[in-house]
Amino acid sequence: MNTVEVKKIWEEIKSELSNIVPESSYGPWIAPLEAVSFEDNQFTLISNAAFAVKYLRENHYKTILDCFRNHFGKEIIVNIEFNQEYADKLKKEKQKEERKLQKEKKEEEEHNRSIKNLSYVKSLNINLRYRFDNFVEDSNNKIAKAAAESVAKNPTATYNPLYIQGGSGLGKTHLMQAIGHYVTLKGNLKVQCIKTEDFINDYVNSTRFTPNQNKNTTIAMNKFRNKYRNVDILLIDDIQFIENKQKCIDELFHTLDTLYNANKQIVLTSDKLPKDLPEIPKRLRTRFEQGLVVEIKPPEFETRVKILKNLALEKGVENIPQEVFEYIAKYYKDNVRELEGAFTKVNAYSDIEETPITLDYAKKVLKCEENLAKPTIEKVIETVADFYDLSSDEIKSTSRVQNISNARSLVSYIAREKLQNSYESIATALNKRHQTITYSVDKTKKELKINKNLNTELNKILKILSLQ
Ligand code: ADP
Ligand code: MG
Repeated sequence: MNTVEVKKIWEEIKSELSNIVPESSYGPWIAPLEAVSFEDNQFTLISNAAFAVKYLRENHYKTILDCFRNHFGKEIIVNIEFNQEYADKLKKEKQKEERKLQKEKKEEEEHNRSIKNLSYVKSLNINLRYRFDNFVEDSNNKIAKAAAESVAKNPTATYNPLYIQGGSGLGKTHLMQAIGHYVTLKGNLKVQCIKTEDFINDYVNSTRFTPNQNKNTTIAMNKFRNKYRNVDILLIDDIQFIENKQKCIDELFHTLDTLYNANKQIVLTSDKLPKDLPEIPKRLRTRFEQGLVVEIKPPEFETRVKILKNLALEKGVENIPQEVFEYIAKYYKDNVRELEGAFTKVNAYSDIEETPITLDYAKKVLKCEENLAKPTIEKVIETVADFYDLSSDEIKSTSRVQNISNARSLVSYIAREKLQNSYESIATALNKRHQTITYSVDKTKKELKINKNLNTELNKILKILSLQ
């Protein structure tokens, strides 16, 4: 009889035995027996324990023989033998099973921990989308990425502070948050990840009590300092916005000093190099430069294509022709946010209009060729400056002198309303905050309704720019 059949018979008899023999004997001694042969009326079972053979012969042999007799309808000789090989095999299987269970337990613990960490990461304003593994690398951002990864893996051991500089939309926030994400998921270090604006607002809120509320001010200030100084890693985004905020500058200086001296890691990002932030006192700028300053430059064409492909994958959009990615990558060179925005726009239109994404469709939606012919924001700044006898630098400065500030508002208005530039790109070109530009555009719109002179001047400028 072949082994498969033999094993099948044993399974049937075993099932009978499980009903008769008490579980305390069946489980440990009968269940592990394995059938190996049935020849010349002899049925052979092997056991993994010498003791089991003796025990079964003395206590349950008769019952076993009865079951075999019932099954075959005749007397069968049943051999129960100890088998070392089988014992080893079972031992190995048991060990393997235990290892598997341990691994599963560890994985489950890890999973629970990472779920806990994930909600913690979210509570720290860390965008889970920003990771090292989805940051596309090329020669223009390689150093910045390597430095950020090194800081994430070994905080304070390498570069402190790490200062990441790059134009708008080139991945500074992505890398900074990837550090926060990595460190937080690893678990044991306390991270604080904030925008400079939040630091400023927090500071202002902590100091705005009147003098007779001294006690409250002290409490608020202690809370503020605890938040920013009692951490292992402080990540501050867009540090250029601290310019001109004298009191905050002092506080930031002391915050960085305290952290640095306590051997805690600091990471800063900015759209300007420390040396190009003249309004920030030298003592703070030297702090910025003390560790490592890395620059991110706009990505190469291939990188832009790859970023778009990753985005399509992330959004679950399939079957997009390569030429669509290449078309978008060709025109959006300087800002990855705008590059991604262009793809998102084509994708959204295609969803709404239920039209597949082809090169012609992308061209129809984005009109890149037409937009290319439009004057750039720089050109608008130059033209408006010329018109009012100012310099481009004055328009980009922080000066609040009336005629300069008015000219600046007009630039914002033209760039936004006539050229449909994003508030963000206007803010970058003018070195201002997004909100400042929104405010200027609204103010100019209102002014144009009542101010005839301003209308005339605007029309003349639009003519020079060939926008009328
Ligand atoms: P910044 O802070 O420099 O203005 P962000 O970090 O906000 O720019 O990046 C803008 C967008 O571009 C984000 O969605 C980011 O994920 C993406 N991005 C920028 N550079 C890369 C890159 N090299 N690889 C993948 N995505 C990138
Ligand atoms: Mg940013």
